[in-house]
Amino acid sequence: MNNECFIFNERLDTHLRNRPSELEEAKRNGVKIVGFFPGNYVPEELIYASGAVPLCLIHGGNPKPAETALSSVPRVICPFARALIGEMMLKENPFYSAVDMVVAPITCQHLRKTAEIWEYRGEPEVFKLGIPHQVYDGLEVNDFAERLDALKDKLQALTGNKVTDAKLTDAVKLYNRMRQLLRKISLMRTSNTSVISSMDFIKLNHVSFYADPVFMTEVLEEIYGELAESNTASDNDAPRLLLAGPNIAMGDYRVPELVEAAGGNIVIEEICEGVRYYWNEIEAGDDLMKSLAKGYLTDRVPCAFMSSSAGKRLEFMTKLISDFHVSGVIWYELLDCEVYDSEAYFFTQKLSEQNIPMLILEADYGTADIGQFKTRIEAFIEMVKEEVE
Ligand code: SF4
Repeated sequence: MNNECFIFNERLDTHLRNRPSELEEAKRNGVKIVGFFPGNYVPEELIYASGAVPLCLIHGGNPKPAETALSSVPRVICPFARALIGEMMLKENPFYSAVDMVVAPITCQHLRKTAEIWEYRGEPEVFKLGIPHQVYDGLEVNDFAERLDALKDKLQALTGNKVTDAKLTDAVKLYNRMRQLLRKISLMRTSNTSVISSMDFIKLNHVSFYADPVFMTEVLEEIYGELAESNTASDNDAPRLLLAGPNIAMGDYRVPELVEAAGGNIVIEEICEGVRYYWNEIEAGDDLMKSLAKGYLTDRVPCAFMSSSAGKRLEFMTKLISDFHVSGVIWYELLDCEVYDSEAYFFTQKLSEQNIPMLILEADYGTADIGQFKTRIEAFIEMVKEEVE
């Protein structure tokens, strides 16, 4: 694993360390902090254009918040959703504590329940953003644009600022630039001599949800330039793998770490929540709200809670497998995530028709399954190696 990308950028490390106190200072000056649940269905551009600070709440992997939530919800709620509830109850995470309002996209049933629990507890205010679960034609885009209009009204009332077309256009350009840079960095991994590891890329992507977006974009420009200059590592002959699944939270790094330790090389991810989606940009059309609705709903690869989404995701994954020269897929899902669990069999079958083996791992946040995971990952990587040779 190469850690340099993440470590060498001292500016980014320092910024993240100081970010909670910066947010506190901003709050004292009247700036609102608007949190939102992950899945890439909440347009940060809209929050940013209202003068509020957007923060995607992506912490996970730590068993304590997930266990804490068990006083409010049963264990059948997935560990990530429970972690969201537990973080809110514990009030130990400065990013979660800073939030004045949270936008909760209604995606799977677990995030729906999470939004309800946050709502019952009364603080902070929750705005539920309905997401059409079927997309057949333009009607759903219009419905979603209406919901985004309601969110815009809510943000204007919260901040006291008007979201003008000019502010929204600037925000769209800023976040498009961030996505472009993440995409350019990610695409470096199509080469066997890439110096950025999956762990570094995922962490960089995670930080982009908490950092100031202007600062983050500048740092991504720097990192891209530095990587482009140093992208001359010797050929890495480790098996090239794709990491798929519902969620990689900030702090939930066990599976990528075990894969690296076992000699595997994750070169690309297809994950719904926790990481920023960077494959498409928002068109700066005449009707910006409709452009946001289209960009966040239909121009992207759908997550598994959307109906008829598996075929589109399989098509996208097949393209990634080809472009990134992947020999095996690690499917990492969280315990009780029925929307992804019910698709695992379909993906195993379809990928085996392409001679791509897939390993399914299902985990809670905890250490009980580490030994078993280690053994299974090592055996899988050995098998992929033998098939490649
Ligand atoms: S991991 Fe699965 S169940 Fe949990 S929030 Fe994500 S999609 Fe929902």
